[in-house]
Amino acid sequence: MKTYHDLRELLNRIDHRGYPAYKDTAGSYQFETYVLSIDHVQGDPFAAPSRVSIHVSGKNAGFPSDLFQEKHKRIALQDYLIRKFSKEVETFTFKAKGSGKSGLMSVSRCGQEILERTGCEIQPDGGVIIRMEIGFPANGRTINSRELIKILFEFLPGCVKKSMFYESLDKKSVQKNAELAEDQKFIRTQLSRLGLTAFVANGSVLPRESGVSDRPMKKAVPFQSPKSLEVTLELPNLGAVTGMGIRQGITLVAGGGYHGKSTLLKALELGVYNHIAGDGREYVITDDTAVKIRAEDGRSIKHTDISMFINNLPNKKDTVRFCTENASGSTSQAANVVEAMEAGAQTLLIDEDTSATNFMIRDELMQRVVNRDSEPITPFIDRVQELYEKYGISTVLVAGSSGSYFHKADCIIQMNHYLPKDITESARKEAEAFPIPSEKAPASQKPSFDRVVKTDQSFRKNDRIKMKTQGKDSILINRDTIDLRYVEQLTDTEQLVTLGHLTTYGQLHLFDGKKSLSETVEELLRLLDKKGLAAVCKGNYVPGGLAMVRKQEIFACLNRYRSLKI
Ligand code: ADP
Ligand code: MG
Repeated sequence: MKTYHDLRELLNRIDHRGYPAYKDTAGSYQFETYVLSIDHVQGDPFAAPSRVSIHVSGKNAGFPSDLFQEKHKRIALQDYLIRKFSKEVETFTFKAKGSGKSGLMSVSRCGQEILERTGCEIQPDGGVIIRMEIGFPANGRTINSRELIKILFEFLPGCVKKSMFYESLDKKSVQKNAELAEDQKFIRTQLSRLGLTAFVANGSVLPRESGVSDRPMKKAVPFQSPKSLEVTLELPNLGAVTGMGIRQGITLVAGGGYHGKSTLLKALELGVYNHIAGDGREYVITDDTAVKIRAEDGRSIKHTDISMFINNLPNKKDTVRFCTENASGSTSQAANVVEAMEAGAQTLLIDEDTSATNFMIRDELMQRVVNRDSEPITPFIDRVQELYEKYGISTVLVAGSSGSYFHKADCIIQMNHYLPKDITESARKEAEAFPIPSEKAPASQKPSFDRVVKTDQSFRKNDRIKMKTQGKDSILINRDTIDLRYVEQLTDTEQLVTLGHLTTYGQLHLFDGKKSLSETVEELLRLLDKKGLAAVCKGNYVPGGLAMVRKQEIFACLNRYRSLKI
């Protein structure tokens, strides 16, 4: 293997040459305690920065195997290391100067959730890889390799030394990080045993600092479960933790405006992920198949069977294989429910703030005036019990303005000054005075999930596929935009990059006119499981910048992909 001497020599040689001469630096170089790989060199100083990875062998990194052998601890350690590395690198970015992206040094920007990422990988033998971006410096388009020497020989070695070796880390804090992961996993595995869809520990801080900051709100009212819903779990590390157990079935969150209903629901939505220490939601754990359901006017729908909610449309449109390029509030929300069922959701999370009213309820007067035959919509309220009884799908529903669901709910929680109260008994009693009209919706057929995805020849013929993402909003594949703004459980821009790669991979290798959409997704999941995130990327190196997604979001992405041939 070439060494750092070779690299330094090469860099000295190409100084002042045209930018393309940087291409010669691609390759791996042995440094004293690690290997530096220049995986991809940018074409010019304004293009996407170069991709560089740092490999520390298991022996040199020295992490005890207990910290990374089990998957959940490995992911937690990877997360810890990349955050540490990121902090170190931040102080050096753009310290080397030049035009365009010259001097940029960056790794994944992690939020409050702990995700598996290609940015940091711990190998089975304890080897650690960090994948980062570096803007190779230039003046105009003339190489300034002295600045790159600064980055690679002064800045980077310090960052590596401080964050990739067990010896240089705060061992207590590394251990705590692993213990938290273990406790979170424990709660997650206990949920179904206890018949719960979610657990919210007492003392949790649910609200966020602001609309643009996901950090915990300072001086928030800490969460405190009502006595009747309290569950105590004996965590392997932290010991006994008490909190609110949301039972399987139908849970209604009622309460006045501004009393913290949506904040609770939001925390449940993100409880499908683990959170970092200090977040306030470390012990808010939700069934990890849970899907947020909302209205999404304007989305496309491709042959989704929404007949359990919508039938006999005035234009005679088929609702068993319902298609539209521009869904209404109710049809979009119906499709979101059925597609969540297809994606294996065992819990639905719904906020009336973001729901289509006509999808959620029909009040008594309306039922009297407009009879069932002339109303295509069977509202969710008429299906919510069926969903649980027939399919085991629980619902947690926030409703502040309509009391209709009081009749259906197994548990009614009132948020009052940010504190939950169990009002199941009293609300039920009140509801008895307002009986619901007896007319019951006829039972529904199990939706059919037999949609088959056809091959799109334009992808197979042409391997120059353009894929780009725009924050957490959308993915661009060639000319197609997949709008994911309302897939609210996508929490990181890197997840969209992964979805973009998965979708193109599907186009290139999986969509064959035989497999159903769910079989296709299962195949993608098997691939991810076997080979990790890198499995779906082309090219001969693994790029940083990808984060793991759930099955539910893969479905959500494909379901919103307008040029998918179904
Ligand atoms: P609702 O959905 O009941 O109308 P929200 O959940 O939107 O209420 O909360 C209203 C406001 O109260 C938000 O600005 C939120 O940040 C804040 N908030 C929520 N929970 C708490 C809490 N536990 N402590 C302090 N403020 C909170
Ligand atoms: Mg609200």
